[in-house]
Amino acid sequence: MNRPCQKPGCSRDATATLTLDYAAKVAVLGPLSPVTDPTALDLCVPHATAFSAPQGWKLVRYRERNEGG
Ligand SMILES: [Zn+2]
Repeated sequence: MNRPCQKPGCSRDATATLTLDYAAKVAVLGPLSPVTDPTALDLCVPHATAFSAPQGWKLVRYRERNEGG
């Protein structure tokens, strides 16, 4: 179920799925979702690591089994 990172110009495999809840202003970053959600964004490791929530938003990171540190 490999899917590419959805950042423009990036061709790495996605390992994380970012879900944005606009009503609650919460960004949830977790392991790659098994289903494709049109409101979610699939990200590779560097892009998931570099992601930071917009101002005023809360970022929730779920632990991944391969995540170091
Ligand atoms: Zn990427």
